[in-house]
Amino acid sequence: MEKVADGVWLLRGDLRKGMNIYFLEDGDGLVQFDAGSIGMAKRARVEAERLGGLKRVVLGHAHADHRGTAPYMGVPVHCHPDEVADAESDASIAPYMDLSQLPVAPIRWLYPFLLRRWDGGAVKVADTVSEGDEVAGFRVIHFPGHAPGLIGLWRESDRVALVSDVVYFVDSARLKPLPEGEASVPHPAWAWDHAEAKESVRKLAALEPRVVAAGHAEPLRGDNLRETLERAAEKY
Ligand SMILES: [Zn+2]
Repeated sequence: MEKVADGVWLLRGDLRKGMNIYFLEDGDGLVQFDAGSIGMAKRARVEAERLGGLKRVVLGHAHADHRGTAPYMGVPVHCHPDEVADAESDASIAPYMDLSQLPVAPIRWLYPFLLRRWDGGAVKVADTVSEGDEVAGFRVIHFPGHAPGLIGLWRESDRVALVSDVVYFVDSARLKPLPEGEASVPHPAWAWDHAEAKESVRKLAALEPRVVAAGHAEPLRGDNLRETLERAAEKY
């Protein structure tokens, strides 16, 4: 696992190691933020045990590639109130996704298969977390748009933001990396509300983070990532 910041560990797995699970040290145990794909479950359990044992899973949002390990970690799962219905649903494709908007035909055809393969199925949500709540020394921030109840975790002291799919560092519509140091708002094909997704990227930019650790690919680092993120809000 990679150390992202003080007390923050990143487990990367599945397709081209593109799926991210974060483990946050919290007193005598750990909080897992985001749950990756089902294929990462065994490794996630081993790593969590090694780091002192898991207390709860907090979902950044409920998409198939972010809830995959959640039912298999043996601890309560929490998410934002606006994400509970999708987390507890059997569907691997959220009702608002419109894959027909993806520009490349083979990738358009591939995604339903990938989403089903990544998914761990319905998650029983034990409790909810909302903007302002504290999670392992971070503050919960609501970033609706890509999903209605998408949340990130923000730590002011070292300006670290864990943001699930608020931004992408990969081109999900073409399944390839973005140029080094670039970010984008996720493609509208996935969005619950694309205009709100852009607004949420601007909300993240205004925090002036130094580390943005997202749901896919390596964290982005810089003295002040505001400009990069403001540009990202305009892509798509
Ligand atoms: Zn997503």
